[in-house]
Amino acid sequence: MSASPRLVEVRQKVLKRNDLLARELRQRFQAAGVYVVSLVSSPGSGKTALLEKTLSLVRPNARVAALVGDLATDNDAVRLRRSMALVRQITTGTVCHLDAEMVEKALADWNLADLDLLFIENVGNLVCPSSYDLGENLRAVLMSVTEGEDKPLKYPTIFNTADLAIITKADLAQAVEFDWDAARQNINAVRPGMEVIALSSKTGEGMDRWTEWLLDAARRPFRCK
Ligand code: MG
Ligand code: ZN
Repeated sequence: MSASPRLVEVRQKVLKRNDLLARELRQRFQAAGVYVVSLVSSPGSGKTALLEKTLSLVRPNARVAALVGDLATDNDAVRLRRSMALVRQITTGTVCHLDAEMVEKALADWNLADLDLLFIENVGNLVCPSSYDLGENLRAVLMSVTEGEDKPLKYPTIFNTADLAIITKADLAQAVEFDWDAARQNINAVRPGMEVIALSSKTGEGMDRWTEWLLDAARRPFRCK
């Protein structure tokens, strides 16, 4: 059943407002010279584990910070602060995604010019985060090998709006008989040509490719969306 015309109109207004705010954020990020990467996935795909490892690996080479979104608790922020990076939790209450206004508020007292890289971990959800631009330069979508190869086919929009796919928990691939070819084919079917990086935050395999790729992307001239 489709939504009533009034609801559709309200939703369009919300998204339009978000797009304008996101555009302002993107301009601020660019002016400050900070490269912004958002991470999206379903709950439990390993966003925080990847971020924790990434923050400690890139911190010697870049000034990094992270915003982390969850419905409740600041557990992830506490965990990420162990990396000694600047971290702030965004608690959304009942809202199942981050929006540009939440990001703007969370950054209000940070000096962006002091940062090279900013990560934004979205709330675990593969549906509506796809509609909310956060002003990021790069959106990475994560799927773990334990979720099965057909995630991209089930949630095409989030894969289609992403710039990079990261297959996580590669150390478990054999145990769950993960079909790498099928996964890559499914990603490619939804978003032809998208870069795919396989890694394990636990064993560290693939992490060098990811961090090199990341630092390289952050050094590239800014592109506008
Ligand atoms: Mg998390
Ligand atoms: Zn939502």
